[in-house]
Amino acid sequence: MKISVIGTGYVGLVTATCFAFLGHDVACLDIDEKKIEGLKNGEIPIYEPNLDKLLESTKATGKFPIFTTDPEEAISHGEVIFIAVGTPPKPNGEPDLKYLEACAETIAKHAKDDAIIINKSTVPVGSGNWVYMLIEHANPTLLFHVASNPEFLREGSAIFDTLYPDRIVIGTDGDFAKTKLAELYRPLIEQEFKAPEYCHRPEFIEAKAAKSKIPFIATDITSAEMIKYSANSFLAMKISFANQVANICDLVGADIVEVMNGIGSDSRIGAKFLNAGIGWGGSCFGKDVHALIKIAEEYDYKPDLLTATCDVNYRQRNLVIKKLQEQMKILKGKRIALLGLAFKPNTDDLRDAPALDIASALIKLGASVSVHDPIAMPNCKKQNPDLAVTYVDDVYELVKNKDAVVLVTEWQDYRDLDLEKVYSSMNGNKILLDGRNIYTPDEAARIGFKYIGMGREAKESKPALV
Ligand code: NAD
Repeated sequence: MKISVIGTGYVGLVTATCFAFLGHDVACLDIDEKKIEGLKNGEIPIYEPNLDKLLESTKATGKFPIFTTDPEEAISHGEVIFIAVGTPPKPNGEPDLKYLEACAETIAKHAKDDAIIINKSTVPVGSGNWVYMLIEHANPTLLFHVASNPEFLREGSAIFDTLYPDRIVIGTDGDFAKTKLAELYRPLIEQEFKAPEYCHRPEFIEAKAAKSKIPFIATDITSAEMIKYSANSFLAMKISFANQVANICDLVGADIVEVMNGIGSDSRIGAKFLNAGIGWGGSCFGKDVHALIKIAEEYDYKPDLLTATCDVNYRQRNLVIKKLQEQMKILKGKRIALLGLAFKPNTDDLRDAPALDIASALIKLGASVSVHDPIAMPNCKKQNPDLAVTYVDDVYELVKNKDAVVLVTEWQDYRDLDLEKVYSSMNGNKILLDGRNIYTPDEAARIGFKYIGMGREAKESKPALV
């Protein structure tokens, strides 16, 4: 099928590459000329494991996508046109739809009759109708359909999530679009392809066995738009729930890891997204929960659970500062190392990253902050030129002479750290604040650290009695 993808960010580029890999003819449009120039040579502008290899592999099958900044070339190409531009939050929490509006105008000019225009961007409920109205207004003679196809991929495992999704959701205005989208997604629904091994995750074999066929959920446009917002809000709420319970564990002396193991094994609850810690960040959760709050408020409905989900989350970042203050009293003049900048492992994405808030708060209190991240440091330097931190390329150099080390992002590299080596090069208080509860408290204490987790009792080795 001939597919156009507008926007070559995380979602657009992964979608385009996977469709090309599945044998479709794909044309990609972006307004960012530098990005498009690089992509023509197979250069990936984001960090997403193995995306470069999968894109390269489409050369051999003659399906390497067209990358262009020419709207006519890209849009007139598509029987189906995916919109995958950003919908960043405005200061009041509403999503900014200016990119979506620009897309609708461009599509109205260049789309062919019977095109299906699909929102893959996360957009407020009602945006399908709004896009339809904008296009119809700009080009009253064009025959077209609008659909919604929310995206659930996770940065860092985006290829796997696209090729082996838990479900595909589409919202359409009738049978024409529904049938065409079912046809487009058939190779995925039926799992009729053989992906290179680098597209798999360790749990692939089980996942594949469980997913001989992918559920295809076809509904109306408004319900599809609500599915995306409620899915993200639910996941965010699950983490905030774990964090709220972690804070109560801190008070009563229980261990949150044990508690969540205990509740997660209940199949009605499920073990995923119950990891307590510094809380969620990234481009989606905060934006989507706030957007759903705004939607509810438009109808004069008070969505208390959603507001609490955000409040609990953002308080966790301050809790890190509070825990350090409890241990070190005065932070002025203290040397603190942050392990991790990206909002989660396996990505260079710093949108709404807790590390940025934590670093700023520590600097404000007079601490000297040094940071490390396996991938996100160049992005951080570029995007936050005023952030007064010291970037250190080697993690063991980073921790040298530091009073406290704060684990912010649970990269595998940090799980694999030689903690004895870290401990011996630190200074003063030798605090290990484990913001994601990845280390074993007793082990950290045995080495000598003052170990502080999130929702688990602080541990330190007791001096031997003489
Ligand atoms: P992004 O910012 O990485 O990419 C957006 C791209 O669109 C950029 O390359 C930008 O230059 C381009 N663009 C903007 N206006 C354009 C226009 N008029 N014509 C052509 N190109 C244009 O965004 P993203 O992270 O890929 O997110 C896209 C959408 O998908 C958002 O609504 C987001 O909420 C949603 N989403 C994102 C994720 C994720 O993990 N990133 C997951 C699910 C859903």
